[in-house]
Amino acid sequence: ARRPLIVGNWKMNGLTASLAEASALAGKVKAQAPAAELGLCPPATLVAAMAAALKGTGIGVGGQDCHAKASGAHTGDISAEALKDAGAIYVLAGHSERRTDHAETDATVRAKAQAAHRAGLIAIVCLGETLAQRDANETLKVVSAQLRGSLPDDATAANTVVAYEPVWAIGTGRTPTEAQVAEVHAAMRQELKARFDDGEGFRLLYGGSVKPDNAKALMAVADVDGALVGGASLKANDFWPIIEAKG
Ligand code: 13P
Repeated sequence: ARRPLIVGNWKMNGLTASLAEASALAGKVKAQAPAAELGLCPPATLVAAMAAALKGTGIGVGGQDCHAKASGAHTGDISAEALKDAGAIYVLAGHSERRTDHAETDATVRAKAQAAHRAGLIAIVCLGETLAQRDANETLKVVSAQLRGSLPDDATAANTVVAYEPVWAIGTGRTPTEAQVAEVHAAMRQELKARFDDGEGFRLLYGGSVKPDNAKALMAVADVDGALVGGASLKANDFWPIIEAKG
């Protein structure tokens, strides 16, 4: 059975003072251990401090991006090894905002996922269609191609998680219907099973406007093993009901 995983992506939000929210979340986890594995991906500046603050709580810390190389002349970039050294256990790869803001392609994302594996991190590979692609009935084609192109051959159920995040659902308050999520997740599962011996074991997250009031329905969809949560992960009081929704 796949262990549910709920991950918060703080994006470019959070200063030192925000570590209090991570500690508040840890307090809730201590009072009532959730069924799901938990992760928080703060801005890189907070990874080390958050990892130290959450040590022993069962909440893992992740980076939001990494460079494909382990070290070198790449000003401003951060290696997977450096994230690992700072205490991270996860790293996002290919979030739609990275694909858009930094022109990351499937090949870039694949190299980053490989870097994560090299460093001993779990890669959370993100993908999803735009609204134009959905309207053109290209969703399954697009998502399958992204999945094929973004996962390296060394991906396993242990070192890789896939997050389906429709671009039009991110930060918009709009979500796909449960049937639409089920259709995409089934297609991803099929693709994984065809390519990897342990394809059945990969965790598939849904992301895009997951909120306390829609989490239960979305998390109950077949082949949805958890959530990647943006805005609602910034406050422990919003994030907690989402965590409890995957019970
Ligand atoms: P929101 O939950 O804010 O829509 O963001 C989703 C997301 O992009 C998580 O990676």
